[in-house]
Amino acid sequence: MTNPSDTAFPPPAMGEPYLLTPGPLTTAASVKQAMLRDWGSWDGDFRAMTAELRRKLLAIAGDVDGTCDCVPLQGSGTFAVEAMLGSFVPRDGKVLVLANGAYGLRAAETLRYLGRAHAVIDKGDYLPPRGDEVAAALAADPAITHVIAIHCETSSGILNPLGEIAEAVAAAGRKLLVDSMSAFGGVAFDVNTIAFEALVSSANKCIEGVPGFSFVIARKDALEAAAGNSHSLSLDIHAQWAYMNKTGQWRFTPPTHAVAAFLEALRLHEIEGGVAGRRARYTRNRDVLVAGMRALGFETLLKDQWLSPIIVTFFNPAHPAFVFTRFYDLMKEKGFIIYPGKLTVVDSFRVGCIGRMDEHVMRRAVGAAGEALFDMGVDDATPPEAAIAERARLAA
Ligand SMILES: *Cc1c(COP(=O)(O)O)cnc(C)c1O
Repeated sequence: MTNPSDTAFPPPAMGEPYLLTPGPLTTAASVKQAMLRDWGSWDGDFRAMTAELRRKLLAIAGDVDGTCDCVPLQGSGTFAVEAMLGSFVPRDGKVLVLANGAYGLRAAETLRYLGRAHAVIDKGDYLPPRGDEVAAALAADPAITHVIAIHCETSSGILNPLGEIAEAVAAAGRKLLVDSMSAFGGVAFDVNTIAFEALVSSANKCIEGVPGFSFVIARKDALEAAAGNSHSLSLDIHAQWAYMNKTGQWRFTPPTHAVAAFLEALRLHEIEGGVAGRRARYTRNRDVLVAGMRALGFETLLKDQWLSPIIVTFFNPAHPAFVFTRFYDLMKEKGFIIYPGKLTVVDSFRVGCIGRMDEHVMRRAVGAAGEALFDMGVDDATPPEAAIAERARLAA
């Protein structure tokens, strides 16, 4: 039975601002309500919840014939990236990191901690790694065994061309690991068409759950082969998988409330029409946001071709009266939490399109941005010449 409130987007509870952020994000009231009860971690009811969660995530990834399995893991997304790298890359393996922002660089940093050999293709903030570059790098270095790609690089909002990357990796006979943290559930990922070993995502992004755990979707043969690779007890994906399959339980205390909330979030995801329905809403959110902000004079970091439906980066205006912290506070007063930029070169801020909100909310957010500019005395939101020149130079 569909509850009418399932398909509406009422504002968050009294005085709560919308989170226009890439997660944690605004969740449905019913997702929050699902946490108002306690669960025994070993109890049959909770084991059934874990099984349902794994089954539904595999269905979202299109795994119809059981070639893959899903392993939830305690901790935020970064824990899962570290667990994936440590579990699937043998200690004598070498990883090619495809970086175009903070999360790609974090994967490289993680490999440094793990003591795994790695090489990096760093495209800066503006551009995606392309299939032909990946092919050339793999041809030039036979020691590389694995490639890690970031599906949506959340620091800029760029949606990387995973299909052509996966083709290049498979053609070279190497293995692909995917950080699909901010894309899975909102952007299609089909295990039948993408040649990959493992991907990771987390509870508080496009599925719209609350923070507390992450999950790995991996080929069963890759999970088998991962035995003994991990440097870490708690981040050993193979051990978590084997124990979960044997007992139906998590190895260590599970985030029971976050799992209950996630099941409700999965139910809403299904009602909305799965990945296609969710992507359509996020895309409308983005289109309304980008058109409205451009009408105010703001400019996006990325060309339209690379804009994701997840999050959009805007340059700070050049106007001397524009101060980001003041803009942030004014937006918050008007009911919207935005996100600082994470670029290495120019000043920017980000606005997320994901979470429990629709285009009407985005229209109000744009209205709030216009009012905030007015309140600050900024009559022109054009970015500095230098930002535009930098963008043009790097995108040439
Ligand atoms: C959110 C995110 C992560 C993980 O971040 P946490 O703060 O650990 O949840 C990793 N990669 C990408 C691309 C992300 O968007």
